[in-house]
Amino acid sequence: MNPETRTFVTPEPAIIPREQHVISRKNISKAALRVLYRLHDAGYDAFLVGGAVRDLLLGGHPKDFDIATNATPDEVKKLFRNCRLIGRRFRLAHVVFGPEIIEVATFRGTGEDAPGEGDRHIVDGLIVRDNVWGSIEEDAIRRDFRVNALYYDISDFSVRDYVGGMQDLQDRALHLIGDPATRYREDPVRMLRAARLAAKLGFTIDPKASAPFEELGPLLGDAAPARLFDESLKMFLAGNGLKSFHVLEQCGLLKFLFPATARALKRGDEALRSLVEQGLANTDSRIAEGKSVTPAFLFAVLLWGEVRDLAHGWMAKGVDGTEAWSRAAAHVVGEQCQRVAIPRRFTLTMEEIWSLQPRFEQIQRKRVFRLMAHPRFRAAFDFLLLRAAESPAMRELGQWWAHAQQLPQDVLAAALPASMATPVGGSSAVATAAPRKRRRRKPSGKSGSA
Ligand code: ATP
Ligand code: MG
Repeated sequence: MNPETRTFVTPEPAIIPREQHVISRKNISKAALRVLYRLHDAGYDAFLVGGAVRDLLLGGHPKDFDIATNATPDEVKKLFRNCRLIGRRFRLAHVVFGPEIIEVATFRGTGEDAPGEGDRHIVDGLIVRDNVWGSIEEDAIRRDFRVNALYYDISDFSVRDYVGGMQDLQDRALHLIGDPATRYREDPVRMLRAARLAAKLGFTIDPKASAPFEELGPLLGDAAPARLFDESLKMFLAGNGLKSFHVLEQCGLLKFLFPATARALKRGDEALRSLVEQGLANTDSRIAEGKSVTPAFLFAVLLWGEVRDLAHGWMAKGVDGTEAWSRAAAHVVGEQCQRVAIPRRFTLTMEEIWSLQPRFEQIQRKRVFRLMAHPRFRAAFDFLLLRAAESPAMRELGQWWAHAQQLPQDVLAAALPASMATPVGGSSAVATAAPRKRRRRKPSGKSGSA
């Protein structure tokens, strides 16, 4: 290709020697070090790259270690017995060490002046296949953010900075490499990555990188729903859910990913906002405590406002309660799954959590025991506790059920009316039946579980 028409300038790296940065091999996983050394010993270039270098420089603990090399995937495979090649859009080598997987990617080219083999396929500006091998310089400018394009060199333990990532780490700012609109058209998920990383790192998004969100956000509608499900889990189930939610909302991306949530919140329902925020905060604390979390509960929280309002709307028009709830759930799940492919095992649980909610209002002996025996009782009860944000009556109902679970069955049975005289959810129903003997309550750190 004629050098005059090249659309990029090959950058010269700043090289930060070992003594001038904080990365220590102590903090790199043994598995990643083995892969780096094996590649190096076989004569290839081998670098730790991406989020791991970024997080190590920030003093954090990377959750995965990615490696970049000039060895092709086939060459990598020859070096490691425990290696499999994956991916169509990007061909990658996975080197497997028990539960740990080290991802090894061959330097990716820009497709122009490509020195290596491989192929790239672009449809309407969107990369659908991208296997053009290149140089490390090209690999650097193909990455999304400048802070994600730092390379830790195993040959001399230096860090190579091709695009100014070190400065951004200091400034705590996320800058996209290249022209933001072009980079988002190539891969709209980069918009979500901006929001997720800003939330996770507490960085600001460069205004030039956030400016195209409003115009290009609709392109997320063309992204693979399965990929958006994975990306949603990374945003909401990795310990920074509440922050991610706030960033998504502030930068206007929430409506492209969770239209129903954005709509319901826009109706100005402050109670719903507290419910969602509390649900996300509980999930974050569970993760911090090492407890399990399920996507079903999370999505049930995010979509609740719309499901509830639809169900109530239909009931007001005379549709029977059970029918109204199941119709509302099917409608909201159906719409959401066109964007974010929530697997069926989770949507089934979400529907159960929602449809059990009206049953908490039926304080009557047989019904109470039947509900407590339901396999989704725990998740549905945790959900009810979140709904304390909706009204004082809901808070009281949550307290009633928390207390009821502490009581011996016979005491509870004796305190319950055999049939229900008071309308559902009314505090008088709760007051009549409320067993007030013991005040001990289990710590309810369970919200977010199912
Ligand atoms: P995390 O801490 O969540 O793992 P990460 O930046 O490491 O964040 P990964 O998905 O593990 O995210 O990606 C590893 C690296 O691959 C990134 O740091 C970036 O350099 C590059 N990368 C990932 N996704 C894209 C993308 N959509 N476009 C360009 N580069 C990307
Ligand atoms: Mg990573």
